[in-house]
Amino acid sequence: MKQIKIFCPATIANLSCGFDVLGVCLDNVGDEMIIAKTEEKGVRIKAIIGADLPLEVEKNVAGVAALALIEKLQPDFGFEITIYKNIKAGSGIGSSAASSAGAVYGINALCGSPLSNKELIYYAMQGEALASGAPHADNVAPALLGGFAFIHSYEPLNIVHIDAPEELYATVIHPQIELKTKDARSVLKQTVTLKQAIKQCGNLGGLICGLYTSDYELIGNSLHDEFVEPKRSLLIPNYAQLKQAAYDAGALGGGISGAGPSVFALSRGKEAAEKVAQAMREVVKDADYECDIHVSPINSQGIKVLP
Ligand code: ADP
Repeated sequence: MKQIKIFCPATIANLSCGFDVLGVCLDNVGDEMIIAKTEEKGVRIKAIIGADLPLEVEKNVAGVAALALIEKLQPDFGFEITIYKNIKAGSGIGSSAASSAGAVYGINALCGSPLSNKELIYYAMQGEALASGAPHADNVAPALLGGFAFIHSYEPLNIVHIDAPEELYATVIHPQIELKTKDARSVLKQTVTLKQAIKQCGNLGGLICGLYTSDYELIGNSLHDEFVEPKRSLLIPNYAQLKQAAYDAGALGGGISGAGPSVFALSRGKEAAEKVAQAMREVVKDADYECDIHVSPINSQGIKVLP
């Protein structure tokens, strides 16, 4: 194999009660990448189409993740990466993660797949460290594994893959306002009360049980966030209205996607998810900023090889 073309999916991290420990993979929102072997060793970013992002290897998450994996695999050839960007950077649906995960997936494949997708998570996380300052896994893990990914621990790295219930759909609205991850982090309180912690534990447990047993009601009743939403939602225009509209249209529940400004809702079935999209669209119809709205099944596979 001389080159590989892949679909690199968008992901929703946090999922309300799963702050920093849970993410899910989307199916029809994502970037494409072509990774080609070169005689010259090392890695080069040949082109980025659709976004203004740095081509310098050390400044692009794809380059940083690629270098981390090359250091491990020591191939006697190199790689040239082309990124077709559809996921806007800073949207809160794992734009950097799609590139980090895609780079390591492609390079591993061109080396004969010595590592499993689970083993690749660590290398993709090194790219994430460039984007957000910390090597977090809650976007790259679902991008590489598909379905839901639960981060049980970072040291040692232990990630549990959870299949999504079949009828689960996501609706995501991305209001195109600038919300820096740094600002989204800085509004967070550094302490929580015991009462809040107990509620959050109950909801996270409920969500995981609901996913394993396809209990849609339990999934919906668990999508609450004690830690982050009360503060972070204030940075997202029309947040309360968007969430209420989603509930009124029949969503199981919803919240902030990643660090925002995207807002997600989960629904049972495509029709319900589309109604939610329509209701969200109605909320922002007079807004003075653009919005992208996506309706997607859960991607059970993660990154996909394209013809
Ligand atoms: P999101 O909010 O969608 O998760 P991220 O916070 O993951 O977005 O990443 C966006 C940041 O990462 C931006 O500062 C962007 O410049 C930087 N970045 C570097 N390389 C890439 C890349 N290949 N794709 C997307 N973002 C990148």
